[in-house]
Amino acid sequence: MTMTDPRKRLDQMISKLRENNYRITPQRLAVLRILATSTGHPSVEKIYGKVKKDFPTTSLATVYKTLIVMKEIGEVLELGFGEGGNRYDGNKPYPHPHLICTGCGQIIDPDLESLQGVTEELIKATGFKINTHRLDFFGVCPNCQKAGSKKPVEN
Ligand code: ZN
Ligand code: MN
Repeated sequence: MTMTDPRKRLDQMISKLRENNYRITPQRLAVLRILATSTGHPSVEKIYGKVKKDFPTTSLATVYKTLIVMKEIGEVLELGFGEGGNRYDGNKPYPHPHLICTGCGQIIDPDLESLQGVTEELIKATGFKINTHRLDFFGVCPNCQKAGSKKPVEN
């Protein structure tokens, strides 16, 4: 679960926004900071809740708009789960595998060397030009196995 240095990620996000002529408001900066430092793949609501602590007048729409912009410039990875809602990875904005607990909803980034050659293998086997990928593993985390509970955890 190696993480990119959050400060480095924040700097990258800010300069990418500037390059693309987006304004950096204090609220937007707060969203970026959360995205850069989160390993738990927060939902929009989660990000909104955190931003509101420092900027009580922030609207949910502002958070949504910021996420759309960040997606557009390739600085956040959106994980869509249909009615389960979307989750966001701003620390690693490129395609990578995820491990998802169907009990508590936590999402982690597994570090598995064996997954790294999969794209190359697929290209070799099919002749496809592969642009992106999505790889999700669903299961029950050790905590949920123990508790047998469906209580959501903080992420
Ligand atoms: Zn769990
Ligand atoms: Mn991730």
